[in-house]
Amino acid sequence: MIEKMVIVGTGPAGLTAAIYGARSGLSPLVYAGIQHGGQLTTTTDVENFPGFAEGILGPKLMEEMTKQATRVGSRIIYEQIEEVAMSQEQKGIKQLTTSSGNTILAKTVILCTGATAKTLKLEGESQLMGHGVSTCATCDGFFYRQKKVIVVGGGDSAMEESLFLANLVDKVYLVHRRDVFRASHIMLERAKKHEKIEFLVPYVIHKLLSHKGVLTGVTLENVSTGKQHDLTIDGLFYAIGHTPNSKVFLPWVDVDDHGYVCVSEGVKTKTEGVYAAGDLCDRHYKQAITAAGLGCQAAMTAIQYLDQ
Ligand code: NAP
Repeated sequence: MIEKMVIVGTGPAGLTAAIYGARSGLSPLVYAGIQHGGQLTTTTDVENFPGFAEGILGPKLMEEMTKQATRVGSRIIYEQIEEVAMSQEQKGIKQLTTSSGNTILAKTVILCTGATAKTLKLEGESQLMGHGVSTCATCDGFFYRQKKVIVVGGGDSAMEESLFLANLVDKVYLVHRRDVFRASHIMLERAKKHEKIEFLVPYVIHKLLSHKGVLTGVTLENVSTGKQHDLTIDGLFYAIGHTPNSKVFLPWVDVDDHGYVCVSEGVKTKTEGVYAAGDLCDRHYKQAITAAGLGCQAAMTAIQYLDQ
């Protein structure tokens, strides 16, 4: 059997594409990937997605989008796509292999696999993941109640995570390598005004300190003076950006220097019938609403392609 539309990823881009594909009668097959619901499942209040005057929790928004996509006829499969190729036998047909070894054939594929949180790759970091080191304050913040934590980064994510953690912990040190911030003015001011958040700039984390497999502190280095000092903390949260999850699709797509999928006319990749949407190809906006818009655009472009 050849699927008319396969969607990879279930963030706002993937689920919006699924809603449009399903409402066109294509019954899209949607692969949820590593993190069903995408990055919004690890955030708290979303105040900038239109239609929710009081805001909505990220996980709730994704739950509703999933329900909507399913109700109109999308089929969600909780697996990952591990390999892609073109069918040897049938011209223009795309072949995808799942984590359980299933092979799916498709006329059109929409790639919406988003991006993954970056870390500093410090010595001992991978062993300390979940034992003091985290990339998700919403997921792990609860474990650090009445403790001291560091958030690394100078963008909106770092401000958001610091503010979230400040409601739980005793102290948040915000460590940023420059004294200029990428964060929006409003978020930065909110964090600066919070009594529990202390800014340490310009600093980098030189070393992770641990005892019996648990993080106990870090060695900080002042970027201007080169001076180092140790700081005792219980938790370290990275908020230093993301890497697009594009590797697996390289047989079908071109990527830029940072791994973002290159598209023309908004959503078209270099392979006919393969489209990309959301954070996977968006370096600039990275918003749920822009991802949803691109998901819609990708589905409509795929529908036009199928009609022809
Ligand atoms: P970002 O804006 O790219 O910021 C990443 C931060 O991490 C930068 O300050 C960067 O420092 C720092 N960084 C990167 N690599 C580093 C390294 N190796 N060592 C130390 N620091 C490093 O990423 P983001 O904060 O995740 O935001 C991404 C997008 O999502 C943005 O468009 C943002 O507006 C949006 N967002 C919006 C909200 C909201 O509206 N509620 C919340 C979260 C995110 P430099 O500045 O020195 O490069």
